[in-house]
Amino acid sequence: MPTKIEVLATLQLVDQSLRAKTRAVAEGEGRVAALEEAVSAQTAAASAARVELAALGARQRDLEGRLAAAEAKMKDRRMRMTRIRNDKELGLARREVDLLKEEIGTLETELMAVMEQVEGATAKLSGLAAELARLGAERDREASELRETLARLSGEIERERATRSELVQTIDGDLRRKYEMIFSRRGGLAVVEVRGGICQGCRMRVPPQLFNQIQRNAEVILCPSCQRILYATRDPCLGSEADASVERSVGSAEAVPRPAKPARQN
Ligand SMILES: [Zn+2]
Repeated sequence: MPTKIEVLATLQLVDQSLRAKTRAVAEGEGRVAALEEAVSAQTAAASAARVELAALGARQRDLEGRLAAAEAKMKDRRMRMTRIRNDKELGLARREVDLLKEEIGTLETELMAVMEQVEGATAKLSGLAAELARLGAERDREASELRETLARLSGEIERERATRSELVQTIDGDLRRKYEMIFSRRGGLAVVEVRGGICQGCRMRVPPQLFNQIQRNAEVILCPSCQRILYATRDPCLGSEADASVERSVGSAEAVPRPAKPARQN
């Protein structure tokens, strides 16, 4: 019949496994959600770039139309000038041609600028589209990995939850709550082995007067440094008892308190 501390140690193994598995699932879900978000942001950016490019294209066509019209008009005025005999009319026609030349120059400059913008916007759009394709592929890969993880782990998670609830039924409610609180506050490590007189949770030396109590695994003994539940492995091969007796025999020599080190926070 295992003692309550031994049952807790077994429960902890189940809980650590459950925690790792549910974390793996949650991390997979997190990655898929983040990629999903990136894909939709990239989709929005690509469609904004497409709108921008369409507007620039329309502007380019408008300028090209106006330029062609101005050029045709100038050609027409020059033809007319050859037929003008009157000096005053000739002067007016020349003035009109000069204005058209100026207009054409302005339109050409503007058109060049717009064409440059179209080029930039096209490059930007193709960059966004390539990144979108990459993100989409990554999202699909992560999603299928998540489906695999779920297929692999959900059965195990279910079985471990069943094992857990069986174990929990044999543990007193207060003790279970205490264990669960330490487990969640102390990085998934609530029951720790004492090996060679050292708490394996925080690496601090456990006071020798606690050893006998710890060996029985019968009561809840908390590590004075990290407040985890201390546990002794019964298997003599693991050396816990032997180490502990060595610890006791040299206890007087080691009785000088070691300088306090901050407990390792897991
Ligand atoms: Zn400790």
